[in-house]
Amino acid sequence: MLICATCSVERNQPVPELCPICSDERQYIGEGGQQWTTLAALAEAGHKIVVQENEPGLFGLRAEPKVGIGQTAQLVVTGQGSMLWDPPGYADDAAAEAIVAHGPVLAIAASHPHMFGVQVEWSHRLGGVPILVAEADREWLGRNDPNVSLWSGSKDIADGLTLLQTGGHFPGSSVLHWAAGAGGRGVLLTGDSVFPNPDRRSVAFMRSYPNHLPLSGTVALRLAEQLGGLEFDRIYGNFNNIIDSNAKAVLRESAHRHAGWVRGDYDYLT
Ligand SMILES: [Zn+2]
Ligand SMILES: [Zn+2]
Repeated sequence: MLICATCSVERNQPVPELCPICSDERQYIGEGGQQWTTLAALAEAGHKIVVQENEPGLFGLRAEPKVGIGQTAQLVVTGQGSMLWDPPGYADDAAAEAIVAHGPVLAIAASHPHMFGVQVEWSHRLGGVPILVAEADREWLGRNDPNVSLWSGSKDIADGLTLLQTGGHFPGSSVLHWAAGAGGRGVLLTGDSVFPNPDRRSVAFMRSYPNHLPLSGTVALRLAEQLGGLEFDRIYGNFNNIIDSNAKAVLRESAHRHAGWVRGDYDYLT
């Protein structure tokens, strides 16, 4: 198994000349050309997983120094077990032990293929945990495994913990709804289909973030409409970018603003 140095997604050998995920218009090949690395090389270079409690029952995990895209994974802990969301592109035994200390892991899932990380490696280190992959995005799997299980639409992981396909950034893009989060007001864990902005009071809807390619207004409004049916007050993005409260209104208003801009409503400002 090799890991793409730019996106940190694992891939079986022999690897193609270029990482398919990074060759796509949503990502990029690094300036120095395609580079692959290994878990052993990353460990040797001093990478480790840092765990931080975001709120009771929710832990952010990220590789330090940063690996690949550098997402912060989230571990959601419920009374029935936990779920690892947007797994990092690096794994080691110390981090696996820290995860298992919070109880059995029910599933691993990524919001979209940029966030696959080393999900199969995590599954093995956590004792063969199911890896849930959206059927619509199966073509992006670089490493298959008997623990991979395809899903579409929605999937209940535990009471009050539901995986929901939204599409958008990728056709299989999904969010994780955690009803008990934010003190019972509800939390959404999102990937790049709904991206909390640095102003912490708006979200973005993009096909590509590095290459600045927007989704249409219709899709932004569709996402807000679909997710508006859930109970939630807080959104965590995949870089620990957070809309701390009132997130449903933020999502709705951001979708209308986005639709207005791409429709040309604000062209008089340009
Ligand atoms: Zn890549
Ligand atoms: Zn992405």
